[in-house]
Amino acid sequence: AVEVHGVHKWYGAHRVLDGIDLTVAAGEVTVVLGPSGSGKSTLLRVINHLEQPTLGHVSLGGEPIGVRWHRGRLRELSERQILTQRGRIGFVFQNFNLFPHLTVLENVAAAPVATGLQRRTEAEQSARELLDRVGLGEKADAYPRQLSGGQQQRVAIARALAQRPGVILFDEPTSALDPELVGEVLAVIKDLAAGGTTLVIVTHEIGFAREVADRVVFMDGGRIVEQGTPAEVLDRPRHPRTQEFLSRVL
Ligand code: ATP
Ligand code: MG
Repeated sequence: AVEVHGVHKWYGAHRVLDGIDLTVAAGEVTVVLGPSGSGKSTLLRVINHLEQPTLGHVSLGGEPIGVRWHRGRLRELSERQILTQRGRIGFVFQNFNLFPHLTVLENVAAAPVATGLQRRTEAEQSARELLDRVGLGEKADAYPRQLSGGQQQRVAIARALAQRPGVILFDEPTSALDPELVGEVLAVIKDLAAGGTTLVIVTHEIGFAREVADRVVFMDGGRIVEQGTPAEVLDRPRHPRTQEFLSRVL
């Protein structure tokens, strides 16, 4: 499970996360909704320790991320230790962020080789299987610029899976795509969800949230305003901010 414990994040005098507590159980899909600027991306970046929380901490499988307990206080781990931990957390970005100079296969196989998880031949074999799984077995030798946005994003998902992470975080994985390419990426994510992968997904695709989420979390102003099942949050929102947000996006 991923546990976010009392996380606050300030940028200078600007408060971006204001006391976030969240548990994502293993095998669960959590969809995070909220208006622009509500802190959704920052929350994902804190979970992955791309950003350090100002207060509080995040743990994965009971182990704090980026820090360790030392005499009752949390101390920062070394960069190397943080990288090792980050390997257990997949991250899929809005803009794919593939390596442009590597082939699709190399993009997927690079991290498990670099981190010593697998030898190159083994990593490439796994990468081919993952590319088949996202429907891109034929594209192994192509370069990212030769692919559509939807295909690039599916490669990014295969790349995240290659590290065999305990959880995958998605930050608006379809918002940079042309509308006709959104479905193929959502289908791959649905497939992961059905297979029991732990996912945290920031998205504005409400219909998708309804289909795939075990839990929907609504954020506003750096806080979790409301959370529950899709039926609770999307069909019977209790908080006025959630109601207002949904009335604008639905
Ligand atoms: P969107 O839906 O537009 O992606 P979001 O919910 O993901 O929004 P965040 O990107 O987490 O929101 O940003 C929350 C707030 O934190 C915003 O006001 C943003 O300007 C601010 N912020 C984010 N990153 C930084 C930073 N590195 N330095 C200063 N302020 C930041
Ligand atoms: Mg964002």
